[in-house]
Amino acid sequence: MDQITIIGGGLSGRLLTLNLIRQVSPHATVSVRMIDKGGFDYMGPAYSNDSSDLLLNVPAAQMGAFSEDPEHFYRWVQDRGVRAEPGDFLPRRLYRDYILFLMHEALRARAGDLAFEHIRGEVMDIEIDGLRATVHLEGRKPFTADRVVLAIGNFPPRHPSITHRSVQRARGTVATLGTPTSSTSCFLRIRLFSSARVKRWLISRSCSTSGGTREL
Ligand SMILES: Cc1cc2nc3c(=O)[nH]c(=O)nc-3n(C[C@H](O)[C@H](O)[C@H](O)COP(=O)(O)OP(=O)(O)OC[C@H]3O[C@@H](n4cnc5c(N)ncnc54)[C@H](O)[C@@H]3O)c2cc1C
Repeated sequence: MDQITIIGGGLSGRLLTLNLIRQVSPHATVSVRMIDKGGFDYMGPAYSNDSSDLLLNVPAAQMGAFSEDPEHFYRWVQDRGVRAEPGDFLPRRLYRDYILFLMHEALRARAGDLAFEHIRGEVMDIEIDGLRATVHLEGRKPFTADRVVLAIGNFPPRHPSITHRSVQRARGTVATLGTPTSSTSCFLRIRLFSSARVKRWLISRSCSTSGGTREL
């Protein structure tokens, strides 16, 4: 039996697991394990907040969980009475509910013909030996896998945080570079932490009206 281990139950790990559960043939001898530090319904930090103010940054009609059906999410919310337009940016909590719903539904449909296990725990190490890997989990016996997928998210940023003293002491000009969503939130935090006399620039290729740079 081919053992596939997916480490991380955030959106990346979920989408892979979901598509595997749906696509693996009933005759294939495959077992799937999804491991995360959080419980089965934990979907990573981006989807851990229930606030309706935290929105997806991709329009509803492009967020379908299956590449062949991008409007799937949009139809799903409409079927649940949510009034939305295809171009709306909907709350992230709705998207989490959608993915979890699909996971539960897919597992129910495959019950009995696909070996699936969710393990709550932290992977501490992976040893590769030829074509197999040994996965070491904190406080558990190691197990072997034929394929291991690392879906463990982003590492913390290397650069100083916005609360760093260098920002608080800044004189002159502070520039924020990046995509509109992340650099705007960064910009707003700089406003909180730096002196009112500091000149602040938000620089982003795609939010410009005049050649790439615009003072706010
Ligand atoms: C507040 C916030 C808002 C965001 N908003 C958006 C947005 O609107 N649009 C967008 O595209 N992106 C957004 N992002 C980026 C977001 O992180 C990604 O879109 C996506 O959710 C990342 O999914 P992921 O599965 O790659 O990583 P994560 O969601 O980080 O999932 C990684 C998972 O791996 C688990 N894990 C890590 N190491 C181990 C280990 N050793 N053992 C076991 N488990 C482990 C963690 O517990 C976690 O659940 C946002 C991020 C944050 C934090």
